Amino acid sequence: MSQNSEITIIGCGAIGLLTAREFVKAGYSVTLIDKSLSGQESSWAGGGILLPLYPWRQPKAISTLVIESNKKYADLSNDLFNATNIDPEWYNCGLLICKNPDKQLATSWCNQHSIPYQEAGSSFFTDLNTQTINPLWLPTIAQARNPRLLKSLKAYLLDAGVTFIENCEVIDVSINNENINTLHTNKGEIKIKQLIICTGAWTGELSKKLLPHSLCSPDISPVKGQMLLFDAQADTLSHMVLDADYYLIPRRDGKILAGSSVEYTEFDKSTSPEAKEKLLHMATELFPTLKDIPLINHWAGLRPGTKQGIPYIDKHPEIKNLSINAGHFRNGLVMGPASARLISDLILDRQPCVDPEPYKLI
Ligand SMILES: Cc1cc2nc3c(=O)[nH]c(=O)nc-3n(C[C@H](O)[C@H](O)[C@H](O)COP(=O)(O)OP(=O)(O)OC[C@H]3O[C@@H](n4cnc5c(N)ncnc54)[C@H](O)[C@@H]3O)c2cc1C
Repeated sequence: MSQNSEITIIGCGAIGLLTAREFVKAGYSVTLIDKSLSGQESSWAGGGILLPLYPWRQPKAISTLVIESNKKYADLSNDLFNATNIDPEWYNCGLLICKNPDKQLATSWCNQHSIPYQEAGSSFFTDLNTQTINPLWLPTIAQARNPRLLKSLKAYLLDAGVTFIENCEVIDVSINNENINTLHTNKGEIKIKQLIICTGAWTGELSKKLLPHSLCSPDISPVKGQMLLFDAQADTLSHMVLDADYYLIPRRDGKILAGSSVEYTEFDKSTSPEAKEKLLHMATELFPTLKDIPLINHWAGLRPGTKQGIPYIDKHPEIKNLSINAGHFRNGLVMGPASARLISDLILDRQPCVDPEPYKLI
C-alpha cells in the first residue's frame, strides 16, 4: 500500500476531518487513516454543545479556541450542507444555565467575548423542576449535530479527492534523519511526507508506542462519557439546559440527549446500568415530560482527556515532519475548527489564527 499525499493524518474524528479540510482548502493532497471507520468514536458520541460547560471556570486557552471556532461554525455548517446535502444542523437554540453561583465571573466572561446574556425569569422554568441559583439565559449559544457533521465532512473530503484508509491501525513508524518516512499498519506500509496525529483519546498511548525514546509525549488519556437519547417530538424542549453537571440537548427534530458521565476507566467503552440510572433520574427529575417519552439509545465515548482540558496543537520538537492536534477533552467539537486552522497555519508557515503558545507540546 503506497500513498503519495502531501499530508497524512491519523485519526478520522472531528479533529482529523476538520484538519484535513484546512489542507484541502489550501490545495494540498490528503490521506486520512483510521483504525476503525471514520467518525465513530468520541466525536460521534459527544453532545455537540458549542460552548464549554461554564467556560468562565476554564483556562483562557480554551476560551480562545472556542470564540475563534464559533466565528466560523455557521458558515462551516452552511458550506458543508451546500457541498454535500448533509446538514450538520448548526442550530442556535440557546442555552439555559440553571445554577450560576459565579454570577460575576459569568457575566464578565460574556461581556469580554460579546456573548449576549440575560437573567432567566420564571417563564423558563414552567416545565423544569430544579433549584435555581442566578439562572442565566444565553440566547445565541448553538449546537451542532455531531454525527451529521462528521458524515458531511467525510462526504466533502471524499468529493475533494481525499483518500480514506479505514480499518487500518497504525502500529509503528520508520524514522530516518529526524523524519518519519513510513507508517507500519495492520494493512501494510504507507509512505508519508507530512504526518499529523489526530487520534483523540489514543494519542498518549500511540505516541509512546511510535516514539518510545522521545522526551516529548503528550499526556492524553481516555475519560469515558455516557449519554442517553429520548425519542421526543419536535418542540418538546426548545433550548439546551445545563443543570449543575448535567445537560439536556434538543435536536432540531425533537430528539433529546441527556448527558453525561465523567469516568476515568482506561479504554473501556462499555455502558453501565448505574450510569444509565443516574442519567435517567437526572433527566426525568429536571424535565418531568421525559417520563412519558421513550428512551431509545444509551452509549459511551472516550474523551481525549488532558489535565486542564487544553489540547496539544503543535509541530513535534524532535521529528521534523510530525505534528499533533489532539487532547480536546470535553470540547473537541467546539474547539475543532480553530484548532484545525491553527495546526494548518503552523505547518504551512502562515500567520497563526491565535497565539500558539498555550498549545505547545513542551
Ligand atoms: C459523552 C460525551 C459528550 C461530549 N460532549 C461534547 C460537547 O457537547 N461539545 C464538545 O465540543 N465536545 C464534546 N465532547 C468531546 C468531543 O467529543 C471530543 O473532544 C472530540 O470528539 C475529540 O475528537 P477527536 O477527533 O480528537 O477524537 P475521536 O473522535 O475519538 O477520533 C480519534 C480517531 O482516531 C482513531 N485512532 C486512534 N488510534 C489510532 C491508530 N493507532 N491508528 C489509526 N487510527 C487511530 C480512532 O479510531 C478515532 O476514530 C463530548 C464527548 C463525549 C464522550
